[in-house]
Amino acid sequence: MGERAWVDHDVCVSSGACVLEAPDVFAYQDGPEALAVVLPGAAELSRDRLVELAGLCPVGAIRVYGDDGSELPLS
Ligand code: SF4
Repeated sequence: MGERAWVDHDVCVSSGACVLEAPDVFAYQDGPEALAVVLPGAAELSRDRLVELAGLCPVGAIRVYGDDGSELPLS
């Protein structure tokens, strides 16, 4: 199953940091709010890279979950 990333749309402010840094992993959702979503490309990344990318979000909207479903701490 592997790690899984998810963007909390109650928290995302559409800063674009994740989309700019990793356009193969994050994209803006259609719609006026342009919230970020996780693309299938995220499955290609290592756990460390996912955690690193999640840490770039200025408001902590990106969560990463491990194999067992537990949320991983961000660095
Ligand atoms: S970096 Fe965070 S706030 Fe900015 S678009 Fe991505 S998820 Fe949203």
